[in-house]
Amino acid sequence: MSAPWLKFYPSDWRADPALRMCSIGARGLWMEMLCVMHEATPRGSLVVNGRALSTRQIAALAGASVDEVTSYLAELEDAGVFSRADDGTIFSRRMQRDVEKEAADKANGSKGGHPDIRRGTVPKEERVRRFRRSDAPAKAQRIFDRSNGCCHWCAKPLEYDNHHIDHLIAVRDGGSNDEDNLVAACPDCNGERAMASGRNDTDLRVGMRADPKAQKPEARDQKDNPESKSSTT
Ligand SMILES: [Zn+2]
Repeated sequence: MSAPWLKFYPSDWRADPALRMCSIGARGLWMEMLCVMHEATPRGSLVVNGRALSTRQIAALAGASVDEVTSYLAELEDAGVFSRADDGTIFSRRMQRDVEKEAADKANGSKGGHPDIRRGTVPKEERVRRFRRSDAPAKAQRIFDRSNGCCHWCAKPLEYDNHHIDHLIAVRDGGSNDEDNLVAACPDCNGERAMASGRNDTDLRVGMRADPKAQKPEARDQKDNPESKSSTT
């Protein structure tokens, strides 16, 4: 399932030599196409209900004439902005790469993190004590506000009293309590990251309410996935 938001890198967009060769109209059409491809299945392909879009359909979606779209598509294709699958379906190479990367990250995460990354390499005495809300309530509030009250990882709206503060670089990997290393996260995402990094304590909690789900992510996973009960944990 695709996220409700689209990963977009303004500097890449503006620096992309292929896009820069295209007219403003062609670039506008490409943005419309990216929005359709983001919601498509498979994500990154210009399909609706599994069928490649015709020029006429693209024109209808983008609110442009068939002639305009025909010429913009030729411009984009000549510049190499998009690729076509064997059956002619237009796709975004970048979006497909992102999808593949997400799938690989997810698989790695469920196995406890990328095997090449050694966790906890910073000696205990050199680690900072993890930030807690009670250390600096104003700082916690700023971090919460910076994420617009939504989880940094899944964008789910958070309740202030039941959110966690997550370290982008884990303390055990040398991460600091600087504000730019701290993000607001929901208990589920924070728990999953804690499990992936081999951490099982819960002193990142900033909420006051006890949340057994967040404290025992293993138990939660078993409850949510009954089939995983038999597997080793
Ligand atoms: Zn989340």
